[in-house]
Amino acid sequence: MAFAAAGAAAWGGLPFSELAADMTAEAVRKAEELCPNPQTVLVAAFPYYAGERAGNLSLYARGLDYHTVVTGRLNTICNFLSKKYKNSRFLPGADNSPLPERQAAWRCGIGLRGKNGLVIVPPYGTYVFLGTILTDVVLELPECTPAPDCVGCGRCLSACPGGALGEDGVEVCRCLSELTQKKGELTAAEEALLKAHPLIWGCDTCQQACPYNAQPALSPLPEFREGLVDGLSVADLEGLTNRTFREKYGDRSFAWRGPAPLRRNLSLRDEQG
Ligand code: SF4
Ligand code: SF4
Repeated sequence: MAFAAAGAAAWGGLPFSELAADMTAEAVRKAEELCPNPQTVLVAAFPYYAGERAGNLSLYARGLDYHTVVTGRLNTICNFLSKKYKNSRFLPGADNSPLPERQAAWRCGIGLRGKNGLVIVPPYGTYVFLGTILTDVVLELPECTPAPDCVGCGRCLSACPGGALGEDGVEVCRCLSELTQKKGELTAAEEALLKAHPLIWGCDTCQQACPYNAQPALSPLPEFREGLVDGLSVADLEGLTNRTFREKYGDRSFAWRGPAPLRRNLSLRDEQG
């Protein structure tokens, strides 16, 4: 109930020892540092799709920063659980914890395992943010079945402009989502990829190609539906220092690298004419 009240579309949980099978020794050590004697991992999916809208930012980056939003929503669940289980730890994480969120979601069966490396949560498709709660309480969990694979149509693999997707998963260094965020010099091959790419931040191609995303349900969460920044122009960034950029866009997830990569990516688009 606390998950539904917090706006999660799907949630589940699993023993930490089970998820540890998908973690490196270093990640397990970090998790144990955060939460000594970790017992249970809860995982939840928060939808963000806001409809078809023109723009040059990835759909995930148009609303408020998901790190803040998801953490805030997980905190309401942690507060609820802390009242029930006194003197216990409940630690929220949203893309910033040592826990592998996708593996947790797949193991709990809250979404299908996409060949594009993403979690598919019908009717929201892959347009969901994942968040976790790590606790030292042994929680009673409903029985769950690991998620099945997607239909395996391969459209995401064929559509991927960077050739980053293969049968073995995602090769992050070839992924344009990473490339748009890369600081500093790009190689000529990387520049060519970005010139042909419609977005200056992120890449939605493998998601848009996926049949589970043909008609995704809209997010019920106002932080991802209202006050959106769909795109940025050269004029939007003109004259901004790092500080004034953060004042203007600091509540957005595309702001964490500062204005430099966005300006560079815009200039590559301009060069294309
Ligand atoms: S985000 Fe773009 S580049 Fe990365 S795997 Fe998906 S389609 Fe390929
Ligand atoms: S595009 Fe096809 S293969 Fe790729 S994740 Fe979607 S259903 Fe799976």
